[in-house]
Amino acid sequence: MAERVVGIDLGTTNSLVAYMDGNHPVIIPGEDGVNLVPSVVALDANGQVIVGNSARKFLIETADRAVYSVKRLMGRGKEDVRDELKLFPFRLAEDLADGEVLRIKLADKSYTPPEISAYVLRQLKHNAERFFGSPVKQAVVTVPAYFNDAQRQATKDAGRIAGLDVLRLVNEPTAASLAYGLDKRKNGTIAVYDLGGGTFDISILKLNDGIFEVIATNGDTHLGGDDIDNLLIAIALDDIQGDMGLDLRRNGEAVQRIRKAVIDAKIALSSSEKTVIAVELPGGKLYQREITREAFEGIVRPVVDRTVEPCRQAMKDAGLTPDQIDEAVLVGGSTRIPLVRQLVRDLFQREPHCELNSDEVVALGAAVQANILGGGSQATQDMLLLDVTPLSLGIEALGGVVAKIIHRNSTIPASATEHFTTGVEGQTNVAIHVLQGERELAKDCRSLARFDLKGIPPMPAGLPRIEVKFLIDANGILQVSAREQRSGKQAEIQVQPSYGLTDEQVENMILESFDYAEQDLAQRQVIEARNEAETILTALEKGRSNQAWQHLTDDERKIIEILEAEVREVKEGQDFQAIRGAIDALNQATMRLAELMMDSAVSSALKGKTMESADMGEGPVAPHPIGKAEFK
Ligand code: ADP
Ligand code: MG
Repeated sequence: MAERVVGIDLGTTNSLVAYMDGNHPVIIPGEDGVNLVPSVVALDANGQVIVGNSARKFLIETADRAVYSVKRLMGRGKEDVRDELKLFPFRLAEDLADGEVLRIKLADKSYTPPEISAYVLRQLKHNAERFFGSPVKQAVVTVPAYFNDAQRQATKDAGRIAGLDVLRLVNEPTAASLAYGLDKRKNGTIAVYDLGGGTFDISILKLNDGIFEVIATNGDTHLGGDDIDNLLIAIALDDIQGDMGLDLRRNGEAVQRIRKAVIDAKIALSSSEKTVIAVELPGGKLYQREITREAFEGIVRPVVDRTVEPCRQAMKDAGLTPDQIDEAVLVGGSTRIPLVRQLVRDLFQREPHCELNSDEVVALGAAVQANILGGGSQATQDMLLLDVTPLSLGIEALGGVVAKIIHRNSTIPASATEHFTTGVEGQTNVAIHVLQGERELAKDCRSLARFDLKGIPPMPAGLPRIEVKFLIDANGILQVSAREQRSGKQAEIQVQPSYGLTDEQVENMILESFDYAEQDLAQRQVIEARNEAETILTALEKGRSNQAWQHLTDDERKIIEILEAEVREVKEGQDFQAIRGAIDALNQATMRLAELMMDSAVSSALKGKTMESADMGEGPVAPHPIGKAEFK
């Protein structure tokens, strides 16, 4: 069978991996059965890197050991992120030279953004390999439509560092449209409204003969579900102060518990009309507040309304009115909120697509694209997919003006050639300054790279004939070459964007990751086994307070207790086999307890008593489910 190519959504808040199962894209869950992998990377006390859900707890306990939202820093320089960093607790490595890649400090080590992202990608790769039982080496990765060359290159670098060959970078709105099969309608305009955890993007796509073209993008890089969470937290904190006289604003642990509770409530309100925000505060007091969807909508409306103006602007830039939009697509977890759906419905005057899970749709579309590139099923194989360059590319010409070589919105892959000459008598060197942007003067465009074409024989000004060739590959990555045709002198570069990693740096990072691969794997197994041990121990606590516990024989209870102690002891060590063995033994021994609990839960339900749902869900034998688990 052909090598599997997976599709990856490398998100600011959450990341996912998907593949094509026959004709349907499907998300690959992690070991915990959960589809979403939080884009959080942490360094534990042993210096081991942890990714995803288990890394999240470090954000609270030891903030200097965890990074999140690293996507905001990809391919960007010190100056670019100055304002960004005010909002985040990250520390950067000091003494960065101008143009050098950022390094984020994590405990006593420092990592570049592509290296951090590579850890997330490695986790997804690992999840896919576990799922298939075979290695995965190729992927399609999605990026925001507005990502520039440097940000795209950084994303590709992250893939390489993670041991993935990134066959293609696909724009997120394009991927979402693909997941809905909108390419099949061949022509039309599509509005993709993406409200995630921390960012809002609106993209207007044009479909020409099945080819997607991003004609306008807009958004807000600091607008999303996090803002909603923060509003709810503020209200809860006020409440708690008013009702109980407790000021918990500086109590990190309390705030974190409240955050979890309000997120649960927010999610519940996407499908129910009311819910209860319930938090056990440190010290044992309980905070409870009922909240209706209507009240919730009153609170969050100002946040949701902030998406209106960017949408209007994007439509204006695209030169379209709402009635000229043929399809609207909802992307991002926060578009599950009914109020948001209503707003999109009103804005674009149509029912938006939301049949697929909105936080999975980008990864699903990436899998569709992956399947095409991997030479998958015949049905989709002949489907050609193209993208366009978001910005014009050119070089600086005499007098500081820009000579555009590839114009914005050109379909990629693309190449173009222009001819130049010298402006000075006897000029032997020509400086090629590669630029990106729509402005006319070089100083107003983004500088991508500089290189020199040297050793031209001295000639009168205007005589040399210099051919400058631009080639953009399917990922939007640029290669520039310059050749003086009379002398045959030539120079070329793969554009190395400012704040990009050099090939050598990437190579070193890859080699380093090989060095650590074995150790990483062993550590990972231990960590995973430990997590599983924690789960079973917690479940056992619950089981013990269930009446079923009393129905066990003394011997059965004794055995469970011995095995429990065994799990507690070995889980502190580094011996994976020992931890695994102890867990299996305990699982075996608690089988009957679980059965009894099931029976009692079922019979009490039959008797019309309320059934303790926790008992059903968390019986001590249940290992983590693998396979289909819904996260809604
Ligand atoms: P990103 O693209 O930024 O990585 P996602 O698309 O995964 O993020 O969206 C994450 C956000 O969606 C979080 O703020 C999360 O709380 C929110 N979210 C997820 N499910 C729901 C839901 N059912 N109702 C409301 N918000 C939700
Ligand atoms: Mg997203």
